[in-house]
Amino acid sequence: METSNPEEVLAPTRDEHSTDEMSAEEPSVVEAGNVIDRGDHSISRRSIPENVLKVLYRLHRSGYRAYLCGGSVRDLIMGRTPKDFDVVTDAHPGDVRRLFRNSRIIGRRFRLVHIIFQDQVVEVATFRREPDRNAPPPDSEVEEDFLITDDNTFGSPLQDARRRDFTINAMFYNIADFSVIDYVGGLEDIAEGRVRVIGDPDVRFREDPVRMMRAIEFASRLGFEIEAETYQGILRHRNEILKASAPRVSEEILELLRRGWSRGAIRLMVDTGLLEPLLPEIYNSIKGERAPYFWKMLEVLDRTVQAGRKISDAVLLSVLVMPWVVDEIEREEAKRRGGDEPDEASRMRIGEVIVFIRELIQPLCARLALAAGTRHQMEQALETFWRLLEPPSDRRAQFRAVYRDPFNDALALLELFALSSGRYVDVFRQWQAFAVRVKRAQEEVEGTVKKRRRRRKRN
Ligand code: ATP
Ligand code: MG
Repeated sequence: METSNPEEVLAPTRDEHSTDEMSAEEPSVVEAGNVIDRGDHSISRRSIPENVLKVLYRLHRSGYRAYLCGGSVRDLIMGRTPKDFDVVTDAHPGDVRRLFRNSRIIGRRFRLVHIIFQDQVVEVATFRREPDRNAPPPDSEVEEDFLITDDNTFGSPLQDARRRDFTINAMFYNIADFSVIDYVGGLEDIAEGRVRVIGDPDVRFREDPVRMMRAIEFASRLGFEIEAETYQGILRHRNEILKASAPRVSEEILELLRRGWSRGAIRLMVDTGLLEPLLPEIYNSIKGERAPYFWKMLEVLDRTVQAGRKISDAVLLSVLVMPWVVDEIEREEAKRRGGDEPDEASRMRIGEVIVFIRELIQPLCARLALAAGTRHQMEQALETFWRLLEPPSDRRAQFRAVYRDPFNDALALLELFALSSGRYVDVFRQWQAFAVRVKRAQEEVEGTVKKRRRRRKRN
């Protein structure tokens, strides 16, 4: 049995620190979440970094509520290592700022506090609620405009849980008594392996269509199913993904690829019909059985990333557009030969391929609002990839290729392509062996230079 100091315990039903806005408007809400005592859940303080505990304890000792929230609680319950540990409190940003010298307030739309430690930043937010949907945003002309434009309203813990996206992402870990507080049935959904949107999917997906992508991402990442109502909601609102902000959408796409759960997620994006409006070019090149190698390529990519190898964003995005670019180049070559068998004369020369790829991907990059630098690196990776497919016969040209900036990106792309399609495997091996030889030679030269310098110093 646990005996806890009553002064230490802040049950979620008590509301000493609730904000004025909240108590004025919703006095009758009984905030009775499901509280799971410290002995009945698997979260241990040992899995929480020292700095995060420091932040939680200082808030708590200063009389505020201090909860760990969001993805970290989900991951700790599931025995996974969280990416980051977010803290939520009833202290307002200014109060938090005053409590921690090493902190600063960030964000304009919603103000958060970053507490900066040597090797870590802990983000502290104040409980907030969803904005009032009946009050239209001041400059909105569209009726029924559900998109959230202002969510800078403080709230209670219950409201804060309810404004989150999925039940599995809305649990709290209370530092006052080490309990888990679950207002939305997240624990049960974790146990059952379900991604379930909080509230009405029709409302929540219209408010923020990126949530549809996030549902898919969590299902793929955790190996969960998407709960039926949530799934139906995505089917109904899939076209609204086009209303989401382009940088957020591209960031979500990049995250799938960067973190190694792209295959399952893109499969689900095809199945739910989300990919078709979002990236119709790519959808058309991979739908049905059109590009079996693409799925293998994502599988190899996911494994590579999960094994800890760093793959640049340019390569990740190039993998995504690869089937489409291959299709378009083949179509162009077929057009040139007017239905004849493939021959040398109809092949595009590398100079033509370069111009062709740039013109092809430009509109897609613009639509996704990719940074100019990322687009440039992507063009370079793809162009160099096509260069590598026909290795120059003379050594000097080979050397020049290896020393060019995008060589590593193009080689990574060729590796993924060759391993999954079975095409150009020999070409890849040749380049790989050549690059290893060049690198070794380079290291030897650098080694001798260093040794010589050292000798000179001694003299
Ligand atoms: P990860 O492990 O990838 O960081 P996460 O669950 O922590 O996953 P974040 O994107 O870091 O996800 O967001 C933190 C938390 O904020 C989420 O767990 C969720 O509670 C809430 N959240 C994030 N995005 C949304 C959204 N679009 N709508 C509602 N709540 C959201
Ligand atoms: Mg997170």
